Formats: sequence, C-alpha cells, structure tokens
Amino acid sequence: MNTPYRFIAGAVCPQCRAEDRIVANDFSVKCVVCDFEEFREDQKAPASESMPKTLAQPIRFLKPSKNEEG
Ligand SMILES: [Zn+2]
Repeated sequence: MNTPYRFIAGAVCPQCRAEDRIVANDFSVKCVVCDFEEFREDQKAPASESMPKTLAQPIRFLKPSKNEEG
C-alpha cells in the first residue's frame, strides 16, 4: 500500500539543490526534479531485530590519552 507523497516546505534536494521540490511519505523521501530518492527505514523499522546488531553498533573512538579504563 502506498501512502501519498507530500511536499516538505523548505527542504532542499541534496542532489540537485532544488528547494521545495522534496516530497515524502511514510516510507521514502524523494525529489520531483531529479531522480534522488531515499528510503526512511531508519525512522519506521518494523523489523529492526532482523538487522545484525554488529551493523547497528555506533563507532567508538578510543582516546589514546586515557588508558585508565579496562
Ligand atoms: Zn533533486
């Protein structure tokens, strides 16, 4: 089932820089000028548990100056 696209006021396309040409529905965001399209699976993830947890881990930057932990 497709939900209708709605324009996002003030949104600028990251690809062609067109303003007020970005439309979005519950599943994806796309540009009506160029072929830019981005899926919004991160906002509504019905099956997030199926994703490997190793990919969901945030990257940690180790500080070389602090070695007290561990
Ligand atoms: Zn565009």
